Amino acid sequence: MQGQMMKLPLIISSLLEHAERYHGDTEIVSRTLEGGIHRYTYADAHARSKRLANALCRLGVRNGDRVGTLAWNGYRHMELYYGVSGFGAITHTINPRLFPEQVGWIVNDADDYVLCFDLTFTSLVESIAPHCPGVKYWVAMTDRQHMPAANIPNLLCYEELLAAESAEFIWPRLDEDSAATLCYTSGTTGNPKGVLYSHRSTMLHAFASSLPDALCLSARDVILPVVPMFHVNAWGLPYSAPLVGAKLVFPGAALDGESLFELFENEQVTFSAGVPTVWLSLLQHLRKNATRLSSVQRMIVGGAACPPALMQAFHQEFGIRIQHAWGMTEMSPLGTVNTLKQSHLDLDEEARFAIGVKQGRPPFGIDLKIVDDDGNELPRDGKTSGALLVRGHWVLDSYYRKDACPLLDGWFPTGDVATLDADGFMQITDRSKDVIKSGGEWISSIELENIAMSHAAVAEAAALGIAHPKWDERPLLVVVKKTDREVSREEILAEYPGKVARFCIPDDVVFIDELPHTATGKVSKVQLREQLSAYRWPEAAPSPR
Ligand code: ADP
Repeated sequence: MQGQMMKLPLIISSLLEHAERYHGDTEIVSRTLEGGIHRYTYADAHARSKRLANALCRLGVRNGDRVGTLAWNGYRHMELYYGVSGFGAITHTINPRLFPEQVGWIVNDADDYVLCFDLTFTSLVESIAPHCPGVKYWVAMTDRQHMPAANIPNLLCYEELLAAESAEFIWPRLDEDSAATLCYTSGTTGNPKGVLYSHRSTMLHAFASSLPDALCLSARDVILPVVPMFHVNAWGLPYSAPLVGAKLVFPGAALDGESLFELFENEQVTFSAGVPTVWLSLLQHLRKNATRLSSVQRMIVGGAACPPALMQAFHQEFGIRIQHAWGMTEMSPLGTVNTLKQSHLDLDEEARFAIGVKQGRPPFGIDLKIVDDDGNELPRDGKTSGALLVRGHWVLDSYYRKDACPLLDGWFPTGDVATLDADGFMQITDRSKDVIKSGGEWISSIELENIAMSHAAVAEAAALGIAHPKWDERPLLVVVKKTDREVSREEILAEYPGKVARFCIPDDVVFIDELPHTATGKVSKVQLREQLSAYRWPEAAPSPR
């Protein structure tokens, strides 16, 4: 017997319709590239998204076509999220921090029909346009007054396109399984791969990520996504904010500590999300100016392991708890969030902190398991580590235009190595390619890095497994000192005894001025390895065991 309830498709346009009807005067605030702050409401955003849909249809964009974006977090980018996906085309967000050749490759692989770009990326577009013949129109996301004088074929002005259209548009009742957005992985090995999200997966992700034990979003929140809209849809916040009716604040291109602080204070931001490096620069700003954030209640950190020292500094010095979350492009991205359970409430500060440094537990909709090399499931004891596999309503099934199935028995292998404890908390110990294999044992590079970064003179650290004649690999620690501090190799190594087993202690420390970072702000171990290719273990290296 069938249930007898309505079946409304889970489609993205319904989010903005809801936000207009029930939160129509709630603000969306953006720092613009033209200079100054732009303010409007969900009702305005909806009207302009409809104008955009009319304009794109007039340009010949059809259901299923890709519309690329090279843009910061801002209101026009938000309009593209809805104005494109709303009528069945696909919003394809591209990471502008990649090399121009990679950007061009991605545009061609996606087969973008139109590409919309922020002014910052005019010269990038100029350089790739001759190599992207499939793009029919290039749209500068600005008004006539600020149009760039650039050598770009079929260049159009975003504001002129919108001004010429009506704000009447009836969003079609799309199949909820149809594609809504496309985002490429950063391709640290080989070419990037496209992940094609559906309307349904995006909607379920928005519901689940808003829950109290996930990001805990509500109509009383002011959300500032620092995580870029070109990186896994800013962790879904442009969808979950209208779902709950929260005010949105977009930082544009100004992601330094001072600019963020100003926006946090002026707009009274309550919730924000970003990678560890962003919170590090905000911390430095707060310390330097001996100031505090007056309205922030929750800050999420993800994308890379957050050094416990950073969490501690925010909590002890500024009373702000940074919450760990984990995910990946293939997971829309949310996999886990670190929120305590009832049984943890009586724990003392130290025990709570030990839980807080883990990546967290999955919301309903995501399932996790760890397995050994033969695919056998490993115990959830908080100690045994293994390859982390996931499945769920917003996890990828196959890559865009690729036939090979990436799944193992219906589970997606994340490439992360992790432990799971009895409460369901997951802790990443490494990327599988970064794990240090020494004499048959696995050493966690993240653990070694966290210990180094707890030293007051260390700004950043990375641990690498370097080939060793006897032990296969041994850990080498690469350290960036704080500008005004001195520290020796011996002082750093003195941090380790008692914190890790003896065989895990790095064999040597190398000091460098700066660590290489990827386009998504993570330390690039591939580049770091290249940089250190001439490194050899010192002759007199102490025996590792
Ligand atoms: P890529 O960097 O390849 O584009 P993503 O941006 O999707 O991939 O990042 C996914 C990876 O980032 C995860 O598999 C994991 O290794 C790492 N990561 C994400 N969040 C965290 C976290 N909170 N702690 C540790 N690692 C994380």
